[in-house]
Amino acid sequence: MQFQIYSTGLYSTWIYYPSCSTLFDCGEGAASSLGKRVFGIDRICLTHGHTDHIAGLPTFINARNRSVGDPFRPLTIFYPEGDRYILAMREFIKKTQGNRLRYPLTWEEINPGDSIPLAENGRQCLETFRTNHNPRLLSFGYRWTEKRKRLKEEFRDRPDIGTILRDTPPAEKGRYEETYSSRLWTYTGDMKSCEIDEIRGSEVLVTDATFLDPEDRAQEEERQSHMTMEEAVELAAEAEAGHLYAIHLSERYHRDRIQETADAMRARHPDLKITVVYPRRTYTVK
Ligand SMILES: [Zn+2]
Ligand SMILES: [Zn+2]
Repeated sequence: MQFQIYSTGLYSTWIYYPSCSTLFDCGEGAASSLGKRVFGIDRICLTHGHTDHIAGLPTFINARNRSVGDPFRPLTIFYPEGDRYILAMREFIKKTQGNRLRYPLTWEEINPGDSIPLAENGRQCLETFRTNHNPRLLSFGYRWTEKRKRLKEEFRDRPDIGTILRDTPPAEKGRYEETYSSRLWTYTGDMKSCEIDEIRGSEVLVTDATFLDPEDRAQEEERQSHMTMEEAVELAAEAEAGHLYAIHLSERYHRDRIQETADAMRARHPDLKITVVYPRRTYTVK
């Protein structure tokens, strides 16, 4: 599952997923890094209205209007209902670009528990879930899920099940199979915590690992609003995630210290794959 990610705590975070034509958050520099790929994006999903997650919007929306790509392709921006910073940004964009956009731009307010359908067949969607980031700000994460079929528990060990399924008409397969929701990818945005069930079983979990030392968090203006890398790893392990991407790291830490911490975490949880997204680097994940 290919994606592109940039994340430096305080400065900018964005994640581009070509296979669902979606950009998650739109920090400063998103459009200049993405170049013509902005035309492949149909929706932007915002987690909350902090500047480092939305400051790239004016440039992105402007870049999407140029004729080097398809300037008529509609764009929808999903964001937490009533977020005052995003509403202010929306107003700014309307005032500065509203009259000259060639494509339909739609702003859609959503809430935790809402779901955005991705494919025509209705098998994939983005589900939102509440995160605890700032008590005065509604924030949520996005869970990319796919409806899949599997054998019902009681049939899994039957050696002749392959033959049975082959001889069963599609309409009657429900006797042996069940539909379940597979969590392909989960992005929490900035957070201190969330309900563990919301992220349980994610194949890939992308989450906040701003600090290495909990003491550094106490000095922040907005206390208790981010996780440490250790907390992120423990959360991912408890949620039985397959692969953790630790993002939003503060650039105050030396690369070697980040690596040391990550290695210690890998030794503690050998079953969890851990990738650190170092500050100030754009990653393409294949
Ligand atoms: Zn934030
Ligand atoms: Zn942030």
